[in-house]
Amino acid sequence: SENGELELEAYKVLLDERVKLVAVGHVSNALGTVNPVKEITELAHKAGAKVLIDGAQGVPHFDVDVQALGCDFYAFSGHKMYAPTGIGVLYGKESLLEQMPPYHGGGEMIKTVSFEGTTFNELPFKFEAGTPNIGGAVALAAAVDYLQALDRTALAAHEAALMQYAHDKAGQFDGLKRIGCAKTIAGAFSFLLEGVHPADVGMLLDQQGIAVRTGDHCAQPIMKQFGIPGTVRASFALYNTFEDIDALFAGLAKAKTFLL
Ligand SMILES: *Cc1c(COP(=O)(O)O)cnc(C)c1O
Repeated sequence: SENGELELEAYKVLLDERVKLVAVGHVSNALGTVNPVKEITELAHKAGAKVLIDGAQGVPHFDVDVQALGCDFYAFSGHKMYAPTGIGVLYGKESLLEQMPPYHGGGEMIKTVSFEGTTFNELPFKFEAGTPNIGGAVALAAAVDYLQALDRTALAAHEAALMQYAHDKAGQFDGLKRIGCAKTIAGAFSFLLEGVHPADVGMLLDQQGIAVRTGDHCAQPIMKQFGIPGTVRASFALYNTFEDIDALFAGLAKAKTFLL
């Protein structure tokens, strides 16, 4: 929708008996929209489909209970939650993982091998062929421990307060257009300065020491839907402060004097 929310009525129409898997983002990395994944999952299950949730932008911002959501699979990346690149998590319901064949061959994923037949190892080894990324796994565990030791409800409230503060400032900033204003938003604050290419805004902010990302955020269809080349995206995490947002808007005011 114009607000950057999924249209559940349209989704219901699409859900017929041909649908095997619904794959949906928990939180949009382009717009920040928090999708109603529990409701989406319930509707999919009623239609006989399985559900895979991309939680790369969910897990860093709030607690996730995969059993309460009821999803069949939930995936997220280490490097979005203070762990290194090249490691992440795929949760799957045990009964489904048991039914699934391995997708890779290699060490540790087999139990017995002979010319007559092969049996596979138990979970999770069946899906972990070859020598794993041991260092990455140790570091990911450290990141999980770090996040779990914090008061995540308080962190979510802090990030929500930052988002509200940025939203209020944006409302008073001439020529700033938010892209995506869903009712629930987390992490990503996406916008454009009227008449300016997002890459130019990003460069001028960068020169002032303010790091944003610009472009289509790996989401070209949504940019096409809005008829824009991309957005400027400020991302908030647990370490951000209200002063950071003041700096962002001061930087934008300065950028505007260069550009307009
Ligand atoms: C970053 C991101 C991905 C890609 O994850 P990688 O681990 O970088 O491949 C997928 N989905 C969302 C929502 C993301 O933010």
